[in-house]
Amino acid sequence: MSAAGTRSVPRCPVCGSSGRPLLNLSAQPIYQHPVPEGTAVPPPHAVDLSWAACVKCAHGWQIEIDGGLLETIYRSHYYTPAPGGMAVTFRNEFMATMERFGLLGPRRRLLEIGASDGDVLAELQQRTNALEAYAFEPNEENAAIAVRRGLTVQPRFFGRDAAAYVEEPVDFICARHVIEHVLEFDDFFQGLNAVTAENADLVLETPSLDEHARRCSIAPFHIEHIHVFSQRSLATLALRHGWKMQRSEVTSDGNLIAVFAKNDVLQSGAETIGARMPEFSDLQAAVTSRHDRLRALFADRYIVFWGAGSAGVSMVSTIGREPDMWTDGNPNKVGKVFVGLQSKIASPEIVFQEANRRIADKPILLITSSFLSEILPRVRQLGWNGKVMDLDGNPVIDPRPQHG
Ligand SMILES: [Zn+2]
Repeated sequence: MSAAGTRSVPRCPVCGSSGRPLLNLSAQPIYQHPVPEGTAVPPPHAVDLSWAACVKCAHGWQIEIDGGLLETIYRSHYYTPAPGGMAVTFRNEFMATMERFGLLGPRRRLLEIGASDGDVLAELQQRTNALEAYAFEPNEENAAIAVRRGLTVQPRFFGRDAAAYVEEPVDFICARHVIEHVLEFDDFFQGLNAVTAENADLVLETPSLDEHARRCSIAPFHIEHIHVFSQRSLATLALRHGWKMQRSEVTSDGNLIAVFAKNDVLQSGAETIGARMPEFSDLQAAVTSRHDRLRALFADRYIVFWGAGSAGVSMVSTIGREPDMWTDGNPNKVGKVFVGLQSKIASPEIVFQEANRRIADKPILLITSSFLSEILPRVRQLGWNGKVMDLDGNPVIDPRPQHG
């Protein structure tokens, strides 16, 4: 990248130690979410990305980032809000974890950073009977929906000036899938420390580097994730800013959810953290072999993608071609296109009708989404006559209705 905003990050942004190469991915899509057709976005539309892993705290980070470009992506190209009841798997898992951690007792004030359309925060408020629920959400489309849910919404990024927008300190604060995007940790934690009461619980959710490395999954490695946290690096970062990890767990989708309490003394971190150092050395080799295998598997095949988000654009880059048709269960995405690609998102009904006419071509339905369990019932209901595969090219189910 040659943009003026580009900077390199040679040392671990969490603990300052040196890094080893973790993963290189070439020609990755810059824009992860579909936009209305005709939207003009100047090139480049793809970029080579590299992550390093810290030798001390096992943090994964991008070694070259363009902050101005990322801010543009977050403001204008963030994901399309889904109608109620869709894409709820992550939310339900999060709520179940909050319950297991004993965090859903009575609260006075809640705050969510990066609240999207406010669905999680509204449910937290309802379950904790909190008087006030503050949401920070820079994407205007999402912020507008959150306002309609009765939340107190700040349509801005969260940082050290946050206290100006919060009347009294909050006793619960959460940030789901935010910390991996944060450019300035000091700014972020200064805001956190300014808006929280002494007894506050902090909850962070972020893709787990330990878990994705174990599965050899590249799902968390895209342009928007300037960090990929190990349990060790997340605990280290928080401790350096006055928060001590109390408990954590990894969800079935590989997300790390951790709860923190305020710690009186700032600690330097890594040396006090018990978590073991994970092993990342196989990741690059596994990614290369998956890439070669998927390219061979999908060459010259009639393919339909279900899932118009980061997993889909990443798959286009992996297999070096667009699908023959692209669909998504979210009707708000129908008719949209990805920046730099040709495909237009069509409704599942239209796509299935067309694919079922192409039965002689043995069409493959590739589920390019994390919400497999929500999508499969619809696939079955709509009647798919070909193979169904997951992101690794493995068959998932026989979606044809069983008779007798
Ligand atoms: Zn480190």
